[in-house]
Amino acid sequence: MIIDGKAIAERIKGKAKNCCSDCYRKPNAVAFILGENPSSEAYLRMIERTLKSVDFGYTLIRLPETISEEELLQKIVEKNLDTEVDGILVQMPLPEHISEERVIMTIAPEKDLDGFHPINAGRLFKGEKGTRPCTPLAVITIFKELDIDLEGKYIVVIGRSNIVGKPLAVMLMQNNATVTICHSKTVDLEEHTRKADIIIVAVGIPNFLTRDMVTEKSIVIDVGINEVDGKIVGDVDYDSMKDYVHMITPVPGGVGPVTNAVLLLNLIEHFRGVVRCIS
Ligand code: NDP
Repeated sequence: MIIDGKAIAERIKGKAKNCCSDCYRKPNAVAFILGENPSSEAYLRMIERTLKSVDFGYTLIRLPETISEEELLQKIVEKNLDTEVDGILVQMPLPEHISEERVIMTIAPEKDLDGFHPINAGRLFKGEKGTRPCTPLAVITIFKELDIDLEGKYIVVIGRSNIVGKPLAVMLMQNNATVTICHSKTVDLEEHTRKADIIIVAVGIPNFLTRDMVTEKSIVIDVGINEVDGKIVGDVDYDSMKDYVHMITPVPGGVGPVTNAVLLLNLIEHFRGVVRCIS
């Protein structure tokens, strides 16, 4: 079965739109972008489309690449204090003279839409309520939307980055799965993947997971986004295994649209923290 990420994203958007219909105002997000970067611009256009499709507010603040770190931090603090703003995004990468860490630390944890603030990372690690990073949250949401019970499943996550592999492994464990994290130093990777009920690949190498590394029972989730000859592909040799494995996400059309949609869920959580709904 091919997992239809676009359909899942549409369901999330439908729920998001309904859940704020009786509140006195709509959730509002602010994004900061410094200088010009075509892929950042494309990403933010997608975010804007997603937010506008459910009538949520969105403001893009464009700043010159030469802005000082202090000035940028001051502008973030202003949005932290603005009670009409529920979520803040700062588009990475930042110019070299600005510390990503300081920027992330400056965004108020309760407005941190990406879930990258160390307080949110700590809350995730401890299993406490907090903002989860969007891509791991998207993967968990796919399982929930497809009624795939993670309890007792053996799951192999390939990739251990702070934004995907690591937080995802913790979230899977909190859903009672047994999790193995693999990375570039893992020996006999296919030993792990062939035993897994679910394989999640977040490596950044096209055709990394091949058919000999999976079985007919595998559920394969492809987080990768790579550009090859002007086309977007994932980390999985999709054509060779799409008719073989039990379930698989395509790229594009799999994890990506769900990642955009779950940003709405994070924004709603922040919004609910400040707005008392009528119902
Ligand atoms: P990183 O480059 O930060 O991490 C890649 C991980 O893959 C590392 O942990 C690395 O291991 C591991 N790796 C590299 N080579 C191998 C190998 N030969 N065998 C096993 N593991 C290996 O990438 P990200 O986590 O940021 O992103 C991963 C992919 O997901 C990219 O394609 C990215 O574009 C995509 N992505 C997609 C998103 C979405 O919403 N769909 C969002 C974010 C990212 P080690 O730690 O040992 O170096």
